[in-house]
Amino acid sequence: LTTAEEEVLNEIEEEDVDFLRLQFTDILGTVKNVAVPARQAEKAFTDGIYFDGSSIEGFVRIQESDMRLVPDPDTFAILPWRQGEESAAARMICDVYDTSTDEPFEGDPRRVLKNALERAEEMGYEVNFAPEPEFFMFEEDEDGRATTDTADHGGYFDLAPKDLASDVRRDIIYGLEDMGFEIEASHHEVARGQYEINFEYDDALSTADNVATFRTVVRAIAAQHDLHATFMPKPIPKINGSGMHTHMSLMTEDGENAFHDESDEFNLSDTAHSYLAGVLEHAPAITAIANPTVNSYKRLVPGYEAPVYVAWSDRNRSALVRKPAARIPAASRIELRSPDPSCNPYLAFAVMIQAGLDGIEQDLECPDPVRENIYEFDEAKREEYGIETLPSNLGEAVDALEEDEVIYDALGEHVAPKFVEAKSQEFEEYLVDVSDWELDRYLETF
Ligand code: GLU
Ligand code: MG
Ligand code: MG
Repeated sequence: LTTAEEEVLNEIEEEDVDFLRLQFTDILGTVKNVAVPARQAEKAFTDGIYFDGSSIEGFVRIQESDMRLVPDPDTFAILPWRQGEESAAARMICDVYDTSTDEPFEGDPRRVLKNALERAEEMGYEVNFAPEPEFFMFEEDEDGRATTDTADHGGYFDLAPKDLASDVRRDIIYGLEDMGFEIEASHHEVARGQYEINFEYDDALSTADNVATFRTVVRAIAAQHDLHATFMPKPIPKINGSGMHTHMSLMTEDGENAFHDESDEFNLSDTAHSYLAGVLEHAPAITAIANPTVNSYKRLVPGYEAPVYVAWSDRNRSALVRKPAARIPAASRIELRSPDPSCNPYLAFAVMIQAGLDGIEQDLECPDPVRENIYEFDEAKREEYGIETLPSNLGEAVDALEEDEVIYDALGEHVAPKFVEAKSQEFEEYLVDVSDWELDRYLETF
């Protein structure tokens, strides 16, 4: 056993952990768990835990369904919502192995991200990511089902007395801190019942793990207060939706920020400019992964602080990519504003990284920033500036993904066709459905 693995075994002993949840995600980003008694931890490290993958979304064909989970000891954490009970439960995030080849399973989203990080490493970079997930908390009805009634009537940065859900938010933050999160900020968002919690940047793999954990913790602790937390991108029409802005930077092997250049007007290095150009170039295809639901496209409309147009800016927030003001070199970074928190963070981060690396490798030219409010541009003006529009629905996004070889390949041979198949089907189902909006509008009119 490694030192890290030994430490986990000690902690299991000391904290009286009786159950271990071995965690991984499917292609759609849903967290899956295999629970084992904690005394199996050592065996999990040495041999892995076998499970049947055939019931996991997009994982395997039935005839090759045996998978092996190998826990990553760095991800060991006691689950905060069981504290106070006599024994504790803990979780570890796992890598998935294919038992027929004993190789890492290419359909494991964590593997897809690791592939992107390996490419970055070959080019001499480490990758840092920080997300800004937003979410709503809604009241439950008498049967415990989620409604869209909000538990507070506060607005952006509203003061505590009006913000009835601030107790819940405090518990969420304590829970996250117990699990090792460094919380940077937490505030009430623009919309009623909407919140944002930012945690500190980390390497991209840890950050993706953190997003998966974050969603679980937020939902579990909200539920303890009889609230339903949702990461659905646009639960209520005509008010802001929930995004998950993602800050990115590259670090050289000797720990320097490869995105910083004092002499540049925007303090961005050539590397950062090419990376940014790569992200803009592949933005339509990235959207399929970073905005993977039918509902995601109800958020990506003008007027609600969500991006619609493919451009970058060092000033305004209507652009797809923003260069946030940073006073210290270590903090030069770019912020992609399109992702929403319904995405699979492993796949979304993987395609963002591969897009940026492609920009660096091809030495792509970065367009000028757009400093005006792009929402107010008409089509002619957008054409004059060469500004493209993001896909306007899931179907268009999937088409863009299929047409973009770099992004399609970034997902790997296993995940790419499975993802396209699942999302095409989801979009087709949506197209043939008849919505409440249609009934309200037409049922009595015609
Ligand atoms: N809620 C907005 C969105 O949909 C973002 C607001 C903000 O700038 O934090 O992306
Ligand atoms: Mg926000
Ligand atoms: Mg932001």
